[in-house]
Amino acid sequence: MFKKLNESLPLQIFTALGLGIIAGLVFMALGWEDFAQTYLNPIGTIFLNLLKFIVVPIVLTSMISGVVSLQDMKKIRTIGIRTLVFFFSTTAIALVIGLVVSNIMKGTYATLEVSDLAYEAAEQSSFIDTIVNIFPSNLFQPMAESTMLQIICIALFIGFGIIVAGEKADPFMTWIDSCYEVFMVIMRGIIKMTPIAVFCLITPVVAVNGPQVLGSLAMVLLTAYICYALQGLLVYPAVVTVLGRINPKKFLKGAAPAFAFAFSSTSSIGTLPVSMECVEDMGGRKAVASFVLPLGATINMSGTAIYQAVCCVFIATCYGINLTLPQMITIVVTAILASIGTAGTPGAGMIMLAMVLQSVGLPVEGIALVAGVDRIFDMGRTGLNVFGDISATMVVSHYEDVREARQGNRVQEEIPERTGEDESGE
Ligand code: ASP
Repeated sequence: MFKKLNESLPLQIFTALGLGIIAGLVFMALGWEDFAQTYLNPIGTIFLNLLKFIVVPIVLTSMISGVVSLQDMKKIRTIGIRTLVFFFSTTAIALVIGLVVSNIMKGTYATLEVSDLAYEAAEQSSFIDTIVNIFPSNLFQPMAESTMLQIICIALFIGFGIIVAGEKADPFMTWIDSCYEVFMVIMRGIIKMTPIAVFCLITPVVAVNGPQVLGSLAMVLLTAYICYALQGLLVYPAVVTVLGRINPKKFLKGAAPAFAFAFSSTSSIGTLPVSMECVEDMGGRKAVASFVLPLGATINMSGTAIYQAVCCVFIATCYGINLTLPQMITIVVTAILASIGTAGTPGAGMIMLAMVLQSVGLPVEGIALVAGVDRIFDMGRTGLNVFGDISATMVVSHYEDVREARQGNRVQEEIPERTGEDESGE
């Protein structure tokens, strides 16, 4: 389905990325950093604004139709529990990978000047506050402020309401479905702008920061990318093969367009429509996708968790601090909680890093060390976050297939191995 949108879009995005890096280096050599900041950056910002504008209606309408199409509460509960177990266990694995690889790599980190760092951390809310804040006190405020967890809560309540109201809610549901189609059309239009936006976003980053900043942080960036690769190329394909009975190669190929989009847009929520189409193309169930993907884009962040673990070890090393085992366990627990609170938008993971650093008594100012290259961290972590959401959807979808086959709801006798090419799922 994504092919219908634009078959060569992932290639165009990566080409734009490469050209943007080259242009950034040229601009820097010519001393045109200001030009890149003043004239190119705003085009990228317009694109990111448009993404933010469209994600709220997309998440709301797709999640409501996802809940309603699951039809009964028991089914929603089972799918919800499976999804959460998948999210939390794979995020825990990602954190262990992050901590182990960082501890192996920390000897290679360059010593950086930490004496005059300044970073003002945003105020962090406690765990209890995070839970309380999931429940909105107003219908419209969460939409105006894009508070994603509250929007998901609203979608769940409206979805339950529609199921219980039965036939009387049919016109309302038809209206929601129609809104969803309209928003998807708008979203597809915005997605077409991605290559230009990527070029305009990456050029100023390279022009302003130059290769030096990349050089001094090269090893920590490399560490993060090694971990992203381990989780994305080994853990998720293995999990979808074992639990979802999907050929890993087909899975990687099928999820590639979403990865490319996430990598360049650095927004899991903005990638939602592409993820949906990838899942449908691989034969995943639309109803499961409408439920699991928006939830995942809001709370499932294995890439962000890896980034936080890697940065904690890096910042500790820069300050000459050796993290103890209990501190590392604390990082695992806090980073899982932080990932729930991290919005699927550009740069959100860096804000939540403050909470993880504070939990183990590391200096929050250390964030200034990695802030300059956050976008480069963010590209990989968002790609991995989206990979995780798609894996969860495919696995949960497979369990639904098995369940239906057992109940004899489906005509076929066997659950076919997904080919990723020719099944429609529903
Ligand atoms: N950009 C990430 C995402 O959208 C969140 C983060 O900054 O870690 O998934």
